[in-house]
Amino acid sequence: MNDRLDILIIYTGGTIGMIENPESHALEPFNFDHLLQNVPKIKMLDFNIEHYEFPKPLDSSDMNPDHWREIANVIKDNYDRYDGFVVLHGTDTMAYTASALSFMLENLNKPVIITGSQLPIGEVRTDGEENLITALQIAAERDADGGPMVREVAILFDNDLLRGNRSTKHSSDNFKAFKSNNFPLLANVGLGITYNREAMRRREPEGPLQVHTDMDCNVIYLDLFPGISAKTVEHILSTPNLKGVVLKTFGAGNGPTGEWFQSLLREAIKNDIVVVNVTQCVSGRVMPHKYGTGVGMSTMGVVPGHDLTSEAAITKLMYLFGLGLTPAEVKDTMQQSLRGELSAS
Ligand code: ASP
Repeated sequence: MNDRLDILIIYTGGTIGMIENPESHALEPFNFDHLLQNVPKIKMLDFNIEHYEFPKPLDSSDMNPDHWREIANVIKDNYDRYDGFVVLHGTDTMAYTASALSFMLENLNKPVIITGSQLPIGEVRTDGEENLITALQIAAERDADGGPMVREVAILFDNDLLRGNRSTKHSSDNFKAFKSNNFPLLANVGLGITYNREAMRRREPEGPLQVHTDMDCNVIYLDLFPGISAKTVEHILSTPNLKGVVLKTFGAGNGPTGEWFQSLLREAIKNDIVVVNVTQCVSGRVMPHKYGTGVGMSTMGVVPGHDLTSEAAITKLMYLFGLGLTPAEVKDTMQQSLRGELSAS
């Protein structure tokens, strides 16, 4: 009897599998075989590894909800056959994909570990080999009763395992490219892998895996800055078919108190646009009642995004509108934790 575990790698592209174009010298995505040839150590792992490759591997700056749908459907179609999944992905939009997948995969009870690298796998100092091997080991890790150790969407990068929907790309050139500023690491990798069981989502799912693939893209960021004009805000808020806005505010959730700003927001909310307040700060939460500048927004119905990352906030809006919820339901659900993406104050 073969009781080896089965892990599926889903290769979407990203620097990890890129090679240099000899003419332009720019890095471009390449196929999975090239990637595998550069990681001979993979054969030393004591589980079976198979792969699914995007027909055209991409730089993750080209990722869109169709690609998320493809990843989610591959997981759905192979869910019973494999014990864990490793998604190879570019770093640029990895935190968006991790957040989106966490919402799309309801009742997930197996590991979906997303990784990539800052240097291509073919380069001598690559971080790709270590990230890939560690991601595979984490996807295959079992707990004492034989179940999967990780049962959620997570990012493994440079020895840190982070909750996918709490992570953010914070460096374009450091090997430690991701941070989870508002949530503890799920695991640290050193000589061994130390799991933080208290932080991990390990409760029994409420039912079988459900994959939701409709993501509604009628959402937008409105990123405040001192001097932003009424014309700019008005223009953004009158985007055709707009349903949801992630308002990126100052500090603990503050914005201009001028009547022009307040009335534009009031008008948007009156037109059933859901406006969610998240902070521009890299860590911390919105506390809309702390300063007078935040109170006005909250009384008019701007939804506090608590400690959501902006990546989680925008993909959650896409997901909730994709489910067909009403604006009132979206407002309500944005404030609840669905997949461990926020801590209410
Ligand atoms: N531009 C690349 C991508 O996101 C960067 C990377 O993978 O690190 O696909």
